[in-house]
Amino acid sequence: MEKISCPVCRGTQLDLLKDRQSGLEVDTCPNCLGVWFDAAELKQFYSSPDLQKRLTPTGGGSVHHTYEISSKARACPRCRKAMDRPHVGGIALDVCRNCRGVWFDHGELRKITEIHKSRGLKGDEVVTEQVREGMRGESKGGGTLEVLSWFLNSFLGSKIR
Ligand SMILES: [Zn+2]
Ligand SMILES: [Zn+2]
Repeated sequence: MEKISCPVCRGTQLDLLKDRQSGLEVDTCPNCLGVWFDAAELKQFYSSPDLQKRLTPTGGGSVHHTYEISSKARACPRCRKAMDRPHVGGIALDVCRNCRGVWFDHGELRKITEIHKSRGLKGDEVVTEQVREGMRGESKGGGTLEVLSWFLNSFLGSKIR
């Protein structure tokens, strides 16, 4: 797959990180340490403990966060369209409606994975839980809910119950 640029640092090209265990290739930014998952890659991520370890290092916690915290829409690294920002479980995800990829800032993926570990949930259940939480926090239906439901359906292949 061709190299793509970081949606946060813009000029910086994402590195392709290949995981032997799952065969998954994810794009990570060497500068801000964000991670991009193309559609369906997120599910695979949770099937590879090795990759989880590499992308969500524990200890230290001293990594400097250089990403901007902004409510402005970021452009999708694949198609350049503005991404949606559904808040899921207190985490603002950047999701592309068009290609159905998702961007995690450094630390966001770790947060989700920590919840996963503390609750003893599998990856699918974690995201399901996150989406439910996000839905409870929504006062009105509409755009975000729609995004969340396809997010869940496309990444996990399951329906929101
Ligand atoms: Zn970056
Ligand atoms: Zn896109």
